[in-house]
Amino acid sequence: MAASVALIGCEVSKPHYESVNDYPVKAGSVQEVTYRPTETLFSLWSPNADSVRLSLYESGEDSEPVSTQWLKRQKDGSWQGKVRGDLQGKFYTFRVWDPSSPYEMEETPGIFATAVGVNGRRGAIIDMRRTDPEGWSNDRRPAMAKTADAIIYELHHRDFSIDPSSGVTHRGKFLALTEHGTLSPEGVKTGIDHLRELGVTHVQILPSYDYGSIDETRLADNRYNWGYDPVNYNVPEGGYSTDPYSPEVRIREFKQMIQALHEAGIRVVLDVVYNHTYDVAHANFTQTTPGYFYRTREDGSLGNASGCGNETASERPMMRKFMLESVRWWVKEYHIDGFRFDLMAIHDIPTMNAIRQMLDEIDPTILLYGEGWAAETPQLEEALRPIKANIKDMPGIGAFSDEMRDGLRGPFYDDHVGAFLAGLPGNEQSIRFGIVGAIEHPQVDMTKVNYSQQPWALQPTQLIAYVSCHDDMMLTDRLRASVKPLKGKQIADDELMRLDMLAQTVVLTSQGLPFLWNGEELMRDKKGVHNSYCSPDSINAIDWTLKARNRRLCDYYAGLIAIRKAHPAFRLGDAKLVREHLEFIDVTMDNVAKDGEKVTPDCVVAFRLKNNAGGDEWNDIVVLFNANRQTVEVALPTDAKYTAVVMNGEVDPQGLATCAGKTRVPAQSAMILHN
Ligand code: CA
Repeated sequence: MAASVALIGCEVSKPHYESVNDYPVKAGSVQEVTYRPTETLFSLWSPNADSVRLSLYESGEDSEPVSTQWLKRQKDGSWQGKVRGDLQGKFYTFRVWDPSSPYEMEETPGIFATAVGVNGRRGAIIDMRRTDPEGWSNDRRPAMAKTADAIIYELHHRDFSIDPSSGVTHRGKFLALTEHGTLSPEGVKTGIDHLRELGVTHVQILPSYDYGSIDETRLADNRYNWGYDPVNYNVPEGGYSTDPYSPEVRIREFKQMIQALHEAGIRVVLDVVYNHTYDVAHANFTQTTPGYFYRTREDGSLGNASGCGNETASERPMMRKFMLESVRWWVKEYHIDGFRFDLMAIHDIPTMNAIRQMLDEIDPTILLYGEGWAAETPQLEEALRPIKANIKDMPGIGAFSDEMRDGLRGPFYDDHVGAFLAGLPGNEQSIRFGIVGAIEHPQVDMTKVNYSQQPWALQPTQLIAYVSCHDDMMLTDRLRASVKPLKGKQIADDELMRLDMLAQTVVLTSQGLPFLWNGEELMRDKKGVHNSYCSPDSINAIDWTLKARNRRLCDYYAGLIAIRKAHPAFRLGDAKLVREHLEFIDVTMDNVAKDGEKVTPDCVVAFRLKNNAGGDEWNDIVVLFNANRQTVEVALPTDAKYTAVVMNGEVDPQGLATCAGKTRVPAQSAMILHN
């Protein structure tokens, strides 16, 4: 920012720009405020403005400015000024006059406020070091040798702790994740202790930057939202803090949360939504540099690849710079360990690769993945879009696999249609595709994989393996909606639990990165609600009394996670190793062979991890999935004696049974054996 100081004062006249594509790129940082105890520098990028005014305030809302001043135009399209004295604790806005704006211009905190007042209307000037909790300088990301070791657990702050059964004091807040010793009414662990017990390596928190749909002045109304409506991208959301009026409190509490998770050995992935904003007319992008940050169609109307009324333009230099600096800000200031890009396919490949490169320079184990799709077609040529089919051009960046998800539960377009878990044949190759991690593998028949005709990953760690996330129904609701009951209106709870276990065994034995949605391990449901983005707590809150009731399920998840962590064969992390060691096997017994040829029955997927894969102590590991309502007798690949460590809903690494030559896989269950 030193260069900014030098620039102030050299007043230049306004150049003529044919279009926003002619705008110069801001020199130095995109950040607009540089605080020092003796003076604060302001620098807002708005090349086509006629004038820009800075206003200073004593509070974050409802007050007259204590001073205003006009900023000076610079050659790089920014407007600069400095204010002498210590502005710690003051608030500010910019007001831009740009004749090209089709929108009414109003005061804005700019695009890169790093602290704000209530509802993010005004920026705040603070010394960031005052927001560091005790011991922050010693905070380190928990050890992780390689990306393949990640096991991700997605959670929403309010879902996770708002119900009194969580036993948490700061319910629905960032601080909830700092509380140890919390118990459900039945005396079982909840909160962060539950996450430790489960053994996940990462939590992915739903949007936690400042978003617009919750009025922070009316938190007592107990409104709910997922938060996919960004306002200030570089500030934590006030609704999850204990005092949204204080700019420092939300920042400090967010850091305390990160610190507590790190101390618990858990890394944190931030869900980032650079692809669109809450609205366009009032958005900080528009109020700072009208017309620049959004894509338009040829007729001048706004693109809408987000399905929310707009799409941002990552390919434009300043939007790209904004995204890079924003990601870097969260890593450097908040010690974030990974990023999940919402509707990543709206962005462009060079931007995503530049972000990966920047993260690699900081720490290559920082995760980067996203949704390889958009809600509608983006206003950008297809070759540049970070869609799944282009993941091969984006090394080190992952994408969610709808192939395996829908091969398990059924298609996204109809909650009542089932797939593998419903005992419907034809989904086996889609599950194989997910097991190998979307890489090229000789035993995956791509003509029978849903959605994708080609393998799309270079490395298996580029596939996010999951069966449910915050979108769509909970797994329990989906199974109730799509699996035909043997009797009655919906499937029985014991069948539901068996299918849940089977589904997550597929997820947790994939060579991709396993991803779990919070509460699945408790058999939580959302009363059949498919899109609960603004549903009340009665739909979204986790009822922690479920844990004692469904303890078996929770222990099963924890057991599988422990096995995955103890056995490198399940997380080879390398496409060549997967092709070398992972072999799908035909397991039909001779007596049920068709026309003398051994074939695997419908709704059975079987594979082995052979020859001490990844240096595993187990020589040969056999994994069997049976989605049929009958027990299936299967032939084992060698004559050796095998020990079952996962069988019929139980996990025991010491062994549950032994067998040789053949084994029986009970209905709707998974089995893992080794010799
Ligand atoms: Ca907010």
